[in-house]
Amino acid sequence: MLTRALILILTALPLVLSPGSAGLDQTLQTNQAVDFTVSFFPVAPYHIGDILSARVTYTGLAEIGGVEITLALADQPDQVLGTTTFSSYNRQATFYWFFDTRETEPGFLDFRYSLPARDITWTQGVHLLPDPGDRDAAWSVSHSQCCTLHYLTGTDAEADLLEIKETLEERSTIALSQFASAGVFEVSPLTDPLSIVLIPVVVGHGGFATDEAVLTYAHDNWTGIDFGILAQHEMVHVIDRLVNTVGPRPAIFVEGLAVYLSGGHYREGDPLQRAAALLALEMYIPISQFVNDFYAAQHEIGYMQAAALVAYLDRLWGWETFIDFYFNLPEGPSDEAIISSALEQRFGINLAELELDFIANLQTLEPDPVVEADVRLTVEAYDMLRRYQTLLIPSAHFRTAWWPPVRTMREGGIVGDYGYREKAPLNVIVEGMLIEVHAAFEAEDYEGVESALDRISTILGQIENKGANRSHYAIGWPIKRIPSMHNRP
Ligand SMILES: [Zn+2]
Repeated sequence: MLTRALILILTALPLVLSPGSAGLDQTLQTNQAVDFTVSFFPVAPYHIGDILSARVTYTGLAEIGGVEITLALADQPDQVLGTTTFSSYNRQATFYWFFDTRETEPGFLDFRYSLPARDITWTQGVHLLPDPGDRDAAWSVSHSQCCTLHYLTGTDAEADLLEIKETLEERSTIALSQFASAGVFEVSPLTDPLSIVLIPVVVGHGGFATDEAVLTYAHDNWTGIDFGILAQHEMVHVIDRLVNTVGPRPAIFVEGLAVYLSGGHYREGDPLQRAAALLALEMYIPISQFVNDFYAAQHEIGYMQAAALVAYLDRLWGWETFIDFYFNLPEGPSDEAIISSALEQRFGINLAELELDFIANLQTLEPDPVVEADVRLTVEAYDMLRRYQTLLIPSAHFRTAWWPPVRTMREGGIVGDYGYREKAPLNVIVEGMLIEVHAAFEAEDYEGVESALDRISTILGQIENKGANRSHYAIGWPIKRIPSMHNRP
């Protein structure tokens, strides 16, 4: 209560103390800034000790690419904390780690944004809570034959380090042998160990790869993804990028290969059976509709079909021929054109003709009703997970994710963006239900999956319709238990 009172007092202070923000000026600034939204990171609530970043998104109609924006403390506008430009691609300007709050007092911290060329200025800030006093996680590293493993101290990853290292060793051996068996290399191309970063929070679907693989590892991981499969998926991406450097790499093959070689998407599953189920369920998407914009398609369907296509081509041509085909694609104006022209050159058919054969092949498979239920509900479950992310934790949704460069964070000893995410009761309730969904999948209890999805949908629907959360006591707080997940290594 005392803290709350203190914050209220401090919040009011800047209004009293900053004579620079005169009435008229302030109104003008606010009006001009309606087309800009600012998100601060790490996500709220903010605490003393956070190293703040800000992402400014322009939602107006004018061209914004290349326009300069500066940032300063509202009460010290001449001391610029950062200058950057808007990207024409996503219309965003990001200030990474522009303000270290460690020497600041709790209260409202106001910042001033300026676009000098457009004569636009506005202020927006954050409420800083006191230092929680228990945030002492630090980056640590552990080496094994395959991998350099980065993790945060005090996390589940540190507790399970030995098992994790064993899993990574096994999975990397398998991934390398899968490429080697196609005659791509005899000696491992990994002159340096694979760099793996384990983070305790969920970003996107629980993993992403650049030149290193970043994976979520937490006992309460609500994405429900098998850690070994995820690790191998991202390893395949890293190896693929390392050895397949000559021609283009269409996303349908990039992801298809990673899912096929790691044994499934999220969980083990036969790719051809799953695609046959999609066809039977009338959920199959014609390849021409998504091949050129793979990541915009319904996520699970796109990945399942991509894996099935690679599995089909492996059966049809043999593994060596498929890898040779994928590694030597010609340049072209689109992924469809690239794949079609390579097919024509080598096999005298285009992609549409190949798809007809692929579909005919799928139609000969009798999809198991269990696989059908699993496929249908997998799509529903991850649509629900993304609906939750969009509504309540957009920094975790892959389209709006906050995934700052992790290497820079390690070098600068910055942990907050990936280390801590404070959960409100509502997050705990919904994430607990998502874990319930994944546990039911594992038990092949599809009624249980549907029931948990219905309950999540009801909660999210109420928030969507009313724009406000119901009391968490009304939707099951305090929660009784969260089912245990078997997503450990
Ligand atoms: Zn992938």
